[in-house]
Amino acid sequence: MTRGVGATPHDKGSPAVRVEGLYVGRFAPSPTGPLHAGSLVAALASWLDARAHNGRWLVRIEDVDQPRCVPGADTFILQQLATCGLHPDAPPQWQSARSSLYQRALDQLVAQGDAYPCACSRKDIEDAHAAQGHARERHAALPYPGTCRHGLHGRTGRSWRFNVTDFKPKQPIALVDHAWSATYSVADGMLQWRDRRLGRQQQQVANAVGDFVLRRADGLWAYQLAVVVDDADQGITDVVRGEDLADNTPRQILLQQALGVPTPRYLHTPLVCGDNGEKLSKQNGAQALELQNPVVALSQAALALGLPAVANLHNICIPDALAQWVAAWRRNYNGPP
Ligand code: GLU
Repeated sequence: MTRGVGATPHDKGSPAVRVEGLYVGRFAPSPTGPLHAGSLVAALASWLDARAHNGRWLVRIEDVDQPRCVPGADTFILQQLATCGLHPDAPPQWQSARSSLYQRALDQLVAQGDAYPCACSRKDIEDAHAAQGHARERHAALPYPGTCRHGLHGRTGRSWRFNVTDFKPKQPIALVDHAWSATYSVADGMLQWRDRRLGRQQQQVANAVGDFVLRRADGLWAYQLAVVVDDADQGITDVVRGEDLADNTPRQILLQQALGVPTPRYLHTPLVCGDNGEKLSKQNGAQALELQNPVVALSQAALALGLPAVANLHNICIPDALAQWVAAWRRNYNGPP
């Protein structure tokens, strides 16, 4: 980690570490296929937000879930971004090269008593819920019932989990920005935070997801741990990403707090739905972006973000179109004047 918490006293009682004027944003695609119309919305939004704040924009290839990665998809995504005029301000990073950072974070959590080994398979978790008479909603992830929280009882640990249930933060959440808000109440386990687009959000993490996985039984790092470690290590001040990830944010804020790294500001962008009304995603077969005319693809993404159409769509060059959307974004999302 390159940043610590609490370096600057917060006049309202909680630590904040934002260096005034500093903005670092990122786009973090998983290379499970090419960008589609939905992922371009998140890419464009994070780029526009960084430009609107005169900040830096980074790209991180999230390839920790190797079995789901498609060979060559990372290079293809980087080419698609370049074709759209979205150029990162530093060379992209690959999560697969960063295991030692994730291991160090896990070691820290274990040493603090915030993580424990778990022997349960998915079937064990389902059986534990069935034994308690819980009905399973279709597609709903089952909260971890806590079987291994206080010991393996002779079983062999397969994965590592974050102990949300017993987590007692030692200090208020360290925010990158005084104007930003996120709080955790130990009394009822409620994590509240304010999304820049969705407004006030809340989740009782222990009830909603339970003690979540940091390192999987197959040895792969879980998204929650990798994303928190990388956002902190890369000094990310602003996370702009698709709304389907909004309910992951409370888990990430708790991990940031446990690791003693600051919580960025969050903005979750609207999702693009296909003709069947379902969110476009690689899993449900979204088409790769048609980039014969990148301004047209960008303009559809801009429209999904509620930005005005540019005049002369078929004659405008990409930098001019992007500049118009930066100005519009600044008006909508409080960038500097
Ligand atoms: N890698 C994730 C995805 O492609 C995005 C993670 C994030 O932005 O936090 O869905």
